[in-house]
Amino acid sequence: MTRIAFLGLGHMGLPMAKNLVTAGHEVHGFDLVPAAIDAARTAGIPVAASGAEAVADAEVVITMFPAGRHVIAAYQDELLAAAAPGTLFIESSTIAVDEARAAHELALAASHRNIDAPVSGGVVGAENGTLAFMVGGSDADFADALPLLEVMGKRIVHCGGPGLGQAAKVCNNMVLAVSQIAVAEAFVLGERLGLEHQALFDVVSQASGQCWSITTNCPVPGPVPTSPANRDYQPGFAGSLMAKDLGLALQAIEQTSTDARMGRLAQQIYAAFADGDGATRDFSGIITDIRAGEG
Ligand code: NAD
Repeated sequence: MTRIAFLGLGHMGLPMAKNLVTAGHEVHGFDLVPAAIDAARTAGIPVAASGAEAVADAEVVITMFPAGRHVIAAYQDELLAAAAPGTLFIESSTIAVDEARAAHELALAASHRNIDAPVSGGVVGAENGTLAFMVGGSDADFADALPLLEVMGKRIVHCGGPGLGQAAKVCNNMVLAVSQIAVAEAFVLGERLGLEHQALFDVVSQASGQCWSITTNCPVPGPVPTSPANRDYQPGFAGSLMAKDLGLALQAIEQTSTDARMGRLAQQIYAAFADGDGATRDFSGIITDIRAGEG
């Protein structure tokens, strides 16, 4: 049994914290939003009066916040000072690589330990305890975090030193965005050439173009009955989240002067998608914009 402070009880954090409680850990949660606090209490998670109170007695602190600025502010303003020296901070929000490294340095300077452990798998993965964790940090801290990550996730990869969990996440989502756009373009091109959706699916899903964006997240209704296209693109993985992650990818591309033209283009395409009604639709709904457009 580990004493855990879980901060950020939103769409992802609440079910993750719930799984830790179910596994027998002592969890004290906290969120800034009253509705999230109420939902946590209803789910059986004890809620502290503040972040500082939640971490005071904790061996492990898990944060699941919207963005890097929330992490840095919470670390600096209250969490690092309130926690006992040697506390292991597991930072699971999706944030920039350099923000993750800054958070790591802040934690170390305050005599704590820290790993970055962003996730993929969405709300369904959080609920089912099947998230993928990409971890950056020392071998010892990874080993200590592993039993808890295994409660919340199924596939846990130690990617290297501080920040490299976030690096893996940003690279993966760049691949995902580019492949989802490519698959959508292929279906629209096929339509214009007179090709049935099912025929194109039967070829590509078994050929060298095979990828998750067609076999699981197929952007047209029919071939994969569970894909968001069959429910008018209800997410799934919302366009706003993909746009956020590609913003982090673009930041990394520019900082490293990487020749990532497809990644840059994907960032522009999803930024425009999320500016409209794509923000709340699954990111495979990009096919609607492609169909409406002209080359
Ligand atoms: P969310 O907005 O639903 O939840 C974040 C919560 O953090 C909010 O309830 C907010 O009030 C709380 N918060 C912010 N600052 C706080 C503080 N100082 N103390 C306590 N609580 C604080 O977001 P989410 O969908 O749960 O996503 C969380 C993170 O996970 C994001 O970084 C997101 O990019 C990433 N992520 C989300 C998904 C997804 O499908 N939703 C998938 C993978 C990764």
